[in-house]
Amino acid sequence: MTPVRLSLRVAVTAIFMLCASLASHSVAWAQDAPIVSKLSDNTYSVFWGFFNSLVVIGNKGVLITDPANDNRAAVLKAEIAKLTDLPVTYIVLSHEHFDHIGGVGAFPQAKLVAQKNIHAVLPLDPLDLAPDDIDITFENKYTLNMGTTDVEMHFMGAGDGVATTVVYMPWEGIAFTADLYEDKRLTPASFLDDTNMLGVRRILNRIGQWPIKHAVTAHSLSSDPQILRDNIRYINDLYDAVYPPIAKAAASDNPFAIYGLLDSLPDTVTLEAYADWDGYEHFSGHVRRMALSIIHGG
Ligand SMILES: [Zn+2]
Repeated sequence: MTPVRLSLRVAVTAIFMLCASLASHSVAWAQDAPIVSKLSDNTYSVFWGFFNSLVVIGNKGVLITDPANDNRAAVLKAEIAKLTDLPVTYIVLSHEHFDHIGGVGAFPQAKLVAQKNIHAVLPLDPLDLAPDDIDITFENKYTLNMGTTDVEMHFMGAGDGVATTVVYMPWEGIAFTADLYEDKRLTPASFLDDTNMLGVRRILNRIGQWPIKHAVTAHSLSSDPQILRDNIRYINDLYDAVYPPIAKAAASDNPFAIYGLLDSLPDTVTLEAYADWDGYEHFSGHVRRMALSIIHGG
C-alpha cells in the first residue's frame, strides 16, 4: 500500500467517524476502551468507534461481523486476542455499504461471507475501501457450523442496501443486523438515501417473530430485544401514517397526484409517540423516504 493510499484511507475513515460522531447523541463514537459484552458461552459483542460487532468463538476459529475500517479492525483484533488464541476465520459482511466492509485486511486468515448482491456494488468503489472479492456468497440462507454453535445468514430482500444480511444464532437466540434501526434514535435522513423502507419493514417484522434474546445492531451498544420491538412498532406506525394518503391519491384520476405527496407529506405527517427519541428532527426525512419507497419501490 502506498503512503498516498494509506493517508487516503485514514482520511476517509476519519470522515466516516466524524459523521458518525456528529450523528450520535447517545453513544460516544470512539470511547477510550472498547465495550465487550458476553452474550453466551462463545459469543460476544464488541462496541467501539460507533460500531458493534458480533464475535463468535468456534472450535477452530472466530467469526466476526463488519470490522468497518482499518482503525476499528485493529481495536477489534486486540480485543479478540484477549478472549481466545484462535484466529478470525470468517468475516460476515452485513451489507455492501463501504463504511461497513473495510478493515478486512487485518484478518488475513478470514474468509469473507456476504449475500451475492454485494457484487453489484463492490466494483463501483472509487476509494478502495471495499475488499477486492468475497470468498463465500449465498442467495437466501447460509449456515456456518463453528463447532461450538451454528451461525445462520439470512437474506430477505433489500433493506439498507441490496445485500442486507441478518445473522441469526438459533441456539442462543442472538440476532445481528446493521443499519435497519438504532436504539430509540432516528437515523439522520442523509443516511437513508439507499434504504428501502418497505424492505426494512418486512425484515424487521419477520425477525420480530423469532425468539430473540439478544438483538445486536451495528450502531447501538445495547442488545436488549425490547429496542428491536420498539423499532418494529415505529416502522409499522410510520408505514400506517404514510400509506393511506398515497393509496388515496393513487386511486384518483390524476396519475401524477402521488408525486406531490413526496413534498407535502413530510410537512404534515407526525408521530408524536416518538417525539422523545433522539433525532426526531429527522422524522420528516423518514416520512419522505417511506413515501418514496411506497411510490417507487426502492
Ligand atoms: Zn448501510
